[in-house]
Amino acid sequence: MTRMTSLLPLNTFGIEARAAHFTEVTSVDELRRALRRAVPPVLVLGGGSNVLFTQDWPGTVIRNAIRGIEVVRRFKNRVWVRVGSGESWHGFVQWAVGQNLGGAENLSLIPGSVGAAPVQNIGAYGVELKDVFVGLEAVELATGKTRRFSRPACRFGYRDSVFKQTEKGRYCITSVTLSLSTGRHRVHTGYGDIAKTLAEMGVAQPTIADVSTAVIRIRSSKLPDPARIGNCGSFFKNPEVERAVYEKIRLTHPAAPHYDLPDGRVKIPAGWLIEQCGWKGKRVGNTGCHDKQALVLVNHGGATGAEVVALAHAIIGSVENTFGVRLEPEVNIL
Ligand SMILES: Cc1cc2nc3c(=O)[nH]c(=O)nc-3n(C[C@H](O)[C@H](O)[C@H](O)COP(=O)(O)OP(=O)(O)OC[C@H]3O[C@@H](n4cnc5c(N)ncnc54)[C@H](O)[C@@H]3O)c2cc1C
Repeated sequence: MTRMTSLLPLNTFGIEARAAHFTEVTSVDELRRALRRAVPPVLVLGGGSNVLFTQDWPGTVIRNAIRGIEVVRRFKNRVWVRVGSGESWHGFVQWAVGQNLGGAENLSLIPGSVGAAPVQNIGAYGVELKDVFVGLEAVELATGKTRRFSRPACRFGYRDSVFKQTEKGRYCITSVTLSLSTGRHRVHTGYGDIAKTLAEMGVAQPTIADVSTAVIRIRSSKLPDPARIGNCGSFFKNPEVERAVYEKIRLTHPAAPHYDLPDGRVKIPAGWLIEQCGWKGKRVGNTGCHDKQALVLVNHGGATGAEVVALAHAIIGSVENTFGVRLEPEVNIL
């Protein structure tokens, strides 16, 4: 366990913060030993691609590096794969694509670790983690005891799970088991620009690998690379509102984009709301709103977490004043 460790290289926002105590674990046994010595509060950190540090961490940061990918069950048309939570998510997806295992290809190039994927039920291009999720194992931080969570026990929602609600900060997820198809896999190409990109690639009958390549192309062209400009991807969730709220917005903005939800409510792209309020490309001090993706807040260099939070509050205020819709951060503010 080392003291006063800089977390700057360990968060994609590129925020300077320090951990009073820091350790990295590569196995469940090491994790248990680290927990016995840890000074509370304990923070489990994966790739640091969904956290915004607003202060130094006063306790122990445990960096998760528990690796391993193993096929644990085989069925006629599927396999269950258990993945160590410290594996890179994209690395795992590439492994699956390489084996022609289907289900995770639309989630290509999402940064971060496998263990954080259930925390916010990562999603992209019409697929969410829950669509391939079987179960997970986690170690309780306070006791070191292992607990298994089934899919219902995780209570997955849109960018949400029990690990962001009642069980927040209580567990270290150590492995995740996913179900992938081995037989003829029906690829999902109906979302965003996937079909268009496949057509540009000259692909008529897309394979799992083709869909992954298309998603990687789209994401690389649209999203800012954290290695070049600090960010955490989408800073806010897309708000889900009552239909009456959306209809009111449509009176002044007839072309307001939306997705109808099965429960009758409406999801509005947060990026569109932010753009309408004039924030896209705006710089405030060392932070700002990305010029291509209004939903992405960026660190132009040397930004503090407090500066990013102040910008987020200003955006929340102006979207609420203009549209009567309150944005919620997707990023974990620490
Ligand atoms: C450029 C960019 C694009 C992105 N695109 C998407 C996208 O398309 N869809 C999407 O859903 N997300 C996206 N994200 C957000 C991010 O990639 C995901 O939320 C990812 O799952 C975070 O993984 P991480 O390992 O970096 O988590 P961290 O940032 O390290 O941690 C996030 C939270 O999970 C907790 N946590 C981490 N590991 C564990 C564990 N093993 N057990 C228990 N708790 C844990 C942490 O304590 C923290 O609260 C994007 C981010 C970036 C930078």
